[in-house]
Amino acid sequence: MAATPKAVTRLIDAFSRLPGIGPKTASRLAYYLLRTGQDDAQALANALAELHERTMLCSVCRNISESDPCSICGDEMREQDTICVVEEPLDVLAIENTGRYKGVYHVLHGHISPMDRIGPDELHIAELLKRIERRPAEEVILATNPTLEGDATAMYLARALAPLVPKVTRLALGLPRGGDLEYADRVTLAEALAGRRDV
Ligand code: ZN
Repeated sequence: MAATPKAVTRLIDAFSRLPGIGPKTASRLAYYLLRTGQDDAQALANALAELHERTMLCSVCRNISESDPCSICGDEMREQDTICVVEEPLDVLAIENTGRYKGVYHVLHGHISPMDRIGPDELHIAELLKRIERRPAEEVILATNPTLEGDATAMYLARALAPLVPKVTRLALGLPRGGDLEYADRVTLAEALAGRRDV
């Protein structure tokens, strides 16, 4: 049996490192790109090359954006004094898709997890507090995931925010426990947002 060309092995290795992709799927993807021809492979290569070149973190909310500030932070029609705190950029998308939220966001890029040695300093929490000191907020909605880590993060934030913000709320129950916000359906998420409660 002929050895697999190095260029193919390298691509399979790279695919295998992506979340949710095992060695079998990685091989299938690599051979698919070989079969489909150079144009598709080149388009993928270009998209990958531009991924980091053409994106940045918004200096206000830390969401991934094409501009700084991002289109949400720069939009004065949005309620700039209501901040929804989420774990990941995809959660912003999920809440935007409900069409029910008019405030702004703050993206932590993770959650507190002592097991993985992720403490508050590893997240964008200090930026959130500084941001509120610069421009006071009326309400902060803690929309971390309904998981142990998400709850721990929300509890930490509630304590840190108490002296700074008149109203700190958490999304209502009803979201599936242990799940990620980004997978919640639109209606459930809209209801959780509407039924948020003080913490
Ligand atoms: Zn922003």
